[in-house]
Amino acid sequence: MRIGFGFDSHRLAAGRKLILGGISVPSERGLLGHSDADVLVHAVCDAILGAVGAGDIGRRFPDTDPAYREISSLLLLERVVDLAAEKGCRVFNVDTTIVLERPKLAPYLGEMAENIAGILGIPAARVGVKAKTNEGMGLVGAGEGAAAFAVVLLEGGDVA
Ligand code: MG
Repeated sequence: MRIGFGFDSHRLAAGRKLILGGISVPSERGLLGHSDADVLVHAVCDAILGAVGAGDIGRRFPDTDPAYREISSLLLLERVVDLAAEKGCRVFNVDTTIVLERPKLAPYLGEMAENIAGILGIPAARVGVKAKTNEGMGLVGAGEGAAAFAVVLLEGGDVA
């Protein structure tokens, strides 16, 4: 068994879609980034990469590479899962928290979990997606951006 942890944050900006867990959530502003800026999926990717000793998403998919421009982060997650599989590792479960002031994400969390579970090849019940506000505190609380945290448990593998 291996545990991985991932964190990510992105700035909110007008004229962008708010993509979280592969879902386009209705919002006046969306997350700014080179890819679709799916902060939740990025945190999950980093957790898996960390667990298998494979660095992080910025090193794997540099934002200077036009190949990743506007790319769906679910495709990046697919590649990360493949990379873990090459090392003999598969994800057992994931737990995550998104921190965002608005909009309210509760109606979308189940579908986000299903999207992530589908790519990981595990039941949606093994993917936790939770959402909180930052109670108005700090940069996230002021609505400047969103953050996400993820922990993942992997099984198998021949990682040294
Ligand atoms: Mg990111």
